[in-house]
Amino acid sequence: MLFHSTLNPQQRISIAAAISNGLAEDGGLYVPEHLPTIDYHDFLNISSYAEFAAKLLSHFFQDDPLSQSLPEFCQRAFNFPIPLRPVNEQTWLMELFHGPTLSFKDFGARFLAECLNQLSTNKKTTIMVATSGDTGSAVAAAFHQKANINAIVLYPFGKISARQEQQMICWQDNIRALAVEGSFDDCQRLVKSAFQDPWWQQHTHLSTANSINIGRLLPQIVYYAYSSLQFFKQHHTQPGYVVPSGNLGNVTAAFFAKTMGFPIREVSLALNANRVVLDYLETGHYQPQTSIVTLANAMDVGKPSNFERLQHLFPTFTDFCAQTRAFSATDQQIITAIKEAEQQHHIILCPHTATAYHARQYLSNDQPWILVATADPCKFDTIIEPIINRPVPVSPALQKLLDRPSQRMIIQPSLAEINKFCLSSG
Ligand SMILES: *Cc1c(COP(=O)(O)O)cnc(C)c1O
Repeated sequence: MLFHSTLNPQQRISIAAAISNGLAEDGGLYVPEHLPTIDYHDFLNISSYAEFAAKLLSHFFQDDPLSQSLPEFCQRAFNFPIPLRPVNEQTWLMELFHGPTLSFKDFGARFLAECLNQLSTNKKTTIMVATSGDTGSAVAAAFHQKANINAIVLYPFGKISARQEQQMICWQDNIRALAVEGSFDDCQRLVKSAFQDPWWQQHTHLSTANSINIGRLLPQIVYYAYSSLQFFKQHHTQPGYVVPSGNLGNVTAAFFAKTMGFPIREVSLALNANRVVLDYLETGHYQPQTSIVTLANAMDVGKPSNFERLQHLFPTFTDFCAQTRAFSATDQQIITAIKEAEQQHHIILCPHTATAYHARQYLSNDQPWILVATADPCKFDTIIEPIINRPVPVSPALQKLLDRPSQRMIIQPSLAEINKFCLSSG
């Protein structure tokens, strides 16, 4: 199986190269040359999630040396549960937040860390990411103590919550988390300039672990495939999914799973006030916007990068519209959803998951829907507690991170500062 850029189907490369490059040289995103189709009966009797993952992913890693390590990678990366929790007769929550940093980003980051560590056996790799939230903590945790990798995580000083910051600065060893005196955009600019800088090019093998990397997307297919089959076995009907979406990586993985042949009836998008995809579905015009700040901040994206992959999958507007629907929630509707889920079902939702709960009221009541729960509500205590008027229990995984010693390093937004810092710390 080979991969190519969304901008150029002619130039094809291996999965290993696609993962180490991250972004294609022409600025496009890597996609598989074709999506493998499977017979889901072949998967019906595999109950171990890690085994299921290795079998599914082997289709994408065919003919690549990495394929031999898939069983091991999956055992290590996917060592936490994925509960499907009933809400009412036709609604379930798929909880993707039981990994070490309490969001679904752990699936992609942990699998990518296994691949990149193996690919860097002969040459140490430096990973640099700019982050304003869940990505930074997932990447820091996933790469922590990976022998062949150094990771540099840049986040905007003073612009993230205390709990979010603690989850990034508590790692030490091969992880450097730097608080940049500036905005998230400044952090992103620094990463870009490092990739173009002669010193960095000479002294390191630089890569990135942001959600553009196909090595983060592929492992996300697995939880849709696995849960749809479990559901199908139990209920003899195919579920639909509602996916809280920002950069559209998670929902792209859901469409991949459906297109491959797993028993998924349909996939809908839940958005916050950043509604470019909904506007596209309504008007046929795709018009990226400046992002709007909302309560569901991991979905505050005005120019979703994976839109390119979705368009590659559904090339015409007619295809796209036939495949999906989208629903957008205002902050007020997010608040109402959090309140209602707590009062009616005693379930605490994170603000992102609340957008899916909000969308549920517009969807058929005589068919089953699985709402994707993207993060643990205890990551967002300062938003949720005033809404439900009671404390959000701190999960053991978060407590573990809060108990770790940490140290904050503040730097000016310049590459020279990062250079100095990295030189001085070896
Ligand atoms: C990243 C994130 C999202 C958005 O996922 P995309 O793949 O970018 O669409 C939603 N919820 C949470 C909690 C996230 O961290």
